[in-house]
Amino acid sequence: MKPYTMYINGRFVDAKSGKRMNVINPATEEIIATVPEGDTMDAELAAKAARKAFDSGEWPSLTHQARGRLLFKLAELVRKNKPRLAKLESMNNGKPLIESEFDIDDVATCFEYYGGLATKIYGEVAPVPDNAISLILKEPIGVAAGIIPWNYPLLMAAWKLAPALCAGCTCILKPASVTPLTALELAKLIEEAGFPKGVVNIITGGGATVGMALASSRLVDKIAITGSVATGREIMKTAAETNLKKVTLELGGKSANIFFADSDFEAAIDGALFGIFPNQGEICSAGSRILVEKSMLDKFVNAMVKKTKKIKLGDPLKRDTKMGPLVSLDQYKRVMKYIEIGKREGAKVCCGGQRPKNFKKGYFMEPTIFVKVNNKMRIAQEEIFGPVVTVIPFKDEEEAIRIANDSPYGLAGAVWTRDIFKAFRVVKKVRAGILWVNTMQPTFVEAPWGGYKQSGGGRELSHYGLEEYMQVKQVHINLNEAPIGWY
Ligand code: NAD
Repeated sequence: MKPYTMYINGRFVDAKSGKRMNVINPATEEIIATVPEGDTMDAELAAKAARKAFDSGEWPSLTHQARGRLLFKLAELVRKNKPRLAKLESMNNGKPLIESEFDIDDVATCFEYYGGLATKIYGEVAPVPDNAISLILKEPIGVAAGIIPWNYPLLMAAWKLAPALCAGCTCILKPASVTPLTALELAKLIEEAGFPKGVVNIITGGGATVGMALASSRLVDKIAITGSVATGREIMKTAAETNLKKVTLELGGKSANIFFADSDFEAAIDGALFGIFPNQGEICSAGSRILVEKSMLDKFVNAMVKKTKKIKLGDPLKRDTKMGPLVSLDQYKRVMKYIEIGKREGAKVCCGGQRPKNFKKGYFMEPTIFVKVNNKMRIAQEEIFGPVVTVIPFKDEEEAIRIANDSPYGLAGAVWTRDIFKAFRVVKKVRAGILWVNTMQPTFVEAPWGGYKQSGGGRELSHYGLEEYMQVKQVHINLNEAPIGWY
């Protein structure tokens, strides 16, 4: 069993308290590693290191080319270590190896993208009257803390670190307590790439301790959280009550995947499943509400059920596995609780709904489809974050849009139809930050990501994601040689 260390100020260290936490493989329920259980003291040490690396100018004053080169180097090291990182991700998170491999490629691409963007940060000149020049400079915000969830552990780390480092910020990253391993491996690659000490600090520990310490630290200028609405709310409140640090929130979702009767049927069934069942349904943008035009409801559900029953559950490390276990016992219990809530509400499980037979160990759960659902039920309003989908019929376009928008969330959505005019009418009316047409889930680092309503605020990825780590300085240069002449 590996005793991992945290990464603070360029050193691999234990928690000051000496405490450690176990890391579990959700497929076997075995302890696979231990990591330091950091607390407020460790968070403050990491914040001090990041503050020093920023204030000394060591990182923000490095040339943009040099910052870019380090990000490229990190991307190269991630690619070189892909087999090892992908395996570790699957062992810690439970996702099938093939999905972890996709994730690791995306991690490298994310570092590459922001490595390239580092040399393309331009300011502007404002069109003020002739007797002045007004320069608009883009400057890094300062010390950026990133708090991430367990569903895409290394990818979420890259989404936080890459734009922040590109902007010239120094960073503290806190991975989720249940999935810290690949982030701690990333720390070793950051060291190997040659980042100056203190520029990136990676600390492990609980949300209520380490996470909260970062949210309340006056040494931190910016905090970006990907997690649940409750955590986002807590962090925003704490940031407001301390030093009003800038906040980016990437929170939950309950996205509508809308199917009109004129869509390509085979592609639609595939898209309904792909919208919810990868990553065990632990996807923020999951199409967890499938809205189907009434005229094809029965045919659609039957086809979905038939295909869903063929999804192969099993050892995440086997190449033919299509679904692994849920990430933890807590998450397994949460999802099972929602199955019971749905049944009590009068919805009907037409596929799955229980632990698969013959699985003695692991937090496995069958892919589950609920029918006889109305959108007011808790299973249609609350984020379950597991392989559970609700099917809701609609009679026409107007009703589909109304149901899609009847949610506190607004992260994503998809619409399936061969009618491009209809697709665009729906896209424009659904209140969500990411909309797909005739597909669901493809995500590109070049395009912005983030939610409307309670799904969050701010954007990640693309140049929009970079802006979240920069602030604007306006510099007015006087060209008027005469005194102002007021007094
Ligand atoms: P969570 O909110 O429980 O935890 C997220 C992170 O916040 C963890 O690192 C946790 O330790 C930390 N944390 C918890 N309480 C804290 C507190 N009081 N102060 C500071 N930090 C705290 O979420 P989770 O269960 O790990 O992840 C699932 C959630 O993440 C879902 O709601 C999902 O939709 C969301 N998510 C959103 C996106 C997106 O891009 N919008 C992506 C992935 C996941």
